[in-house]
Amino acid sequence: MNNYNTILVAVDLTAEAEQVMARAAAVAGQNGTSNLHVVHVIEPLSFAYGGDIPIDFSAIQDEIQKQAESHLRTLCEKYGVAAEHQHLVTGSPEKEIQALAEELGTDLVVLGSHGRHGFGLLLMGSTANGILHGAKMDVLAVRVGT
Ligand code: AMP
Repeated sequence: MNNYNTILVAVDLTAEAEQVMARAAAVAGQNGTSNLHVVHVIEPLSFAYGGDIPIDFSAIQDEIQKQAESHLRTLCEKYGVAAEHQHLVTGSPEKEIQALAEELGTDLVVLGSHGRHGFGLLLMGSTANGILHGAKMDVLAVRVGT
C-alpha cells in the first residue's frame, strides 16, 4: 500500500484539537511526509443569526478571526507546520474542508470524532459525519474526549 503524501488535518481549535493534531503529525511522520496541512474554518455569525437579529457582526467577526489566527499559529508552530500549510478559511466547515482537501490533492483527511453514544448513526458529530460521507479520499477519525 502506498504511503500518504498529502495529509490535511481539520482542527476546531477547542482543547481537543491538540489530540487530533498530535495524531495527524504522528501519521505524517510514519508516512515520511512533511506535506501536512492544517485547516480551521470560521463559521460566519450571520450563518447562525443572519436575518433574525439586526446587528452588525463585523467587529465580533474580526475579533474571532484574530483569535483563530493566533490559536492556529500557536498550534501549528508546536508541530512545525509551516505558515503556508496553515489554512484559515471562512464558511461551512464541511464544505470548506472538502474543497480544500481536493484543491491540495489530499490523500488523507484527519479529524476528531467524539464517538458519542446514542442512536445508531449519530455516533459522530455532524461535521465529522458530513466530511466522512462526502470525502473522495481516506478519512481518519481520531477519537477525542471521553
Ligand atoms: P464535530 O463534528 O463538530 O464534533 O467536529 C468533529 C471534528 O470535525 C473536529 O474534531 C475537527 O476535526 C472537525 N471540525 C469541526 N469543526 C471544525 C472547524 N470549524 N474547522 C475545522 N475543523 C472542524
